[in-house]
Amino acid sequence: MKNVLRQGDARRGDFWYNGRMKFWNREVETMSRDQLAAVQLKGLQKSLKRVWTNEWSRKLLLSRGFGNPEDVKSLDDLAKLPFLTKDDFRDAYPLEMSTVPRQDLREFHQSSGSTGTPVVMAYTKNDLNQWAECMARCFAMAGLEAGDAFQIMPTFGLFNGGFGCYHGCRKAGLFCVPASSGNTERQIKLMRDFHVKGFCSVVSYVPRIIEKLDADPSGNHDIPSIRVGIFGSETFSDEMRKRIEDRLHIECFDIYGMTETGGIGTTGQDCPAHCGIHVWDDQYITEIVDPVTGAPVPDGEYGEVVFTSLTREAMPIIRYRTHDISRIVSRDTCACGRTHLRLDRITGRTDDMLIVKGVNFYPRQVEQALMEIPGVKDEFQIILETRHGITDVTVNVEAEPGVTGHMVAKHLRERLGFLPKGEVFPIGREAE
Ligand SMILES: [Zn+2]
Repeated sequence: MKNVLRQGDARRGDFWYNGRMKFWNREVETMSRDQLAAVQLKGLQKSLKRVWTNEWSRKLLLSRGFGNPEDVKSLDDLAKLPFLTKDDFRDAYPLEMSTVPRQDLREFHQSSGSTGTPVVMAYTKNDLNQWAECMARCFAMAGLEAGDAFQIMPTFGLFNGGFGCYHGCRKAGLFCVPASSGNTERQIKLMRDFHVKGFCSVVSYVPRIIEKLDADPSGNHDIPSIRVGIFGSETFSDEMRKRIEDRLHIECFDIYGMTETGGIGTTGQDCPAHCGIHVWDDQYITEIVDPVTGAPVPDGEYGEVVFTSLTREAMPIIRYRTHDISRIVSRDTCACGRTHLRLDRITGRTDDMLIVKGVNFYPRQVEQALMEIPGVKDEFQIILETRHGITDVTVNVEAEPGVTGHMVAKHLRERLGFLPKGEVFPIGREAE
């Protein structure tokens, strides 16, 4: 993994301000690990006491064998606490977990769960401020500063993405372009007309923007002002990142956060060194646990990401199991100067893990393998079918002439350890 800051490129390297890295909150972002540990213990004890005041949560903790918040005297005691799950959020729908009176709530967001009962996160005024602070740190880390135009492409609504960016823009003093999702032509026009420097979207939307730019009848295939792309809620490979960066001449950042932690950006983003996501350690405690046993795993090993919030008021979370798979890359001070730990990009979901022909794998590995084949384009399908408990994988890819099914099959077999079914389609023809 590279750990080198790119400097000096005319369209990149804007993270340096008078030769110094931009920070939103330098004091906190560069705090020593010892100081952070003290902040974390204090925050954990405070959050736990707050959770304990809620009858629903207290019953839940008691039913799982935890009886007294005073028992938590050190950070090591965290592992004694029971986990909180997505199902718990659904059981607590809509506001059973809230620790504040209804009149202290200012906003909520929700994500629809696969079972149909949504997961709700409610915010007090301070919670909204905490969210904005986390987002402002992410923006500064991506090289954005007051006055820069920022286009928000996630939807404004119950989903947290649009409003999270908005609260962050307000805090960071950015010029907010609240485009919301869809209408690619208008997105491009807005970016050009308002000299947009940064934008946020899901990464799978970017190929649509590129396609529109490539086909622009005016012959203008560029968005000259754009420098920064911030992508959330989907995993993407280094290869995909490189293709987007090279085509749009931007630097890509991977932002992290979910409804249950308080939304986009709350659990950090990668920095210009691109060697992991800095999780805001003064706001959350990160653990990696074995997805099967729940036991903590050592730094460097893959497992399920578990978060504990330290400052949130309305619905603090204690040991929330995210189902995301990752690992802690390092707790050492980063090349960017930040001391907050670095989490690897999300490899997959515990519920995505598949066993195909005796091999464990995550769908993202297919994307990574495909992007390594020269001539294979961003458009591809991964079809998973499970019949009688046996999973079959079909991979259809779009590729330039010269890329054969044999080449794709050979590479996938080498990289995945099994051979998916699939076809190669010439560019522009849709797989049926
Ligand atoms: Zn860094």
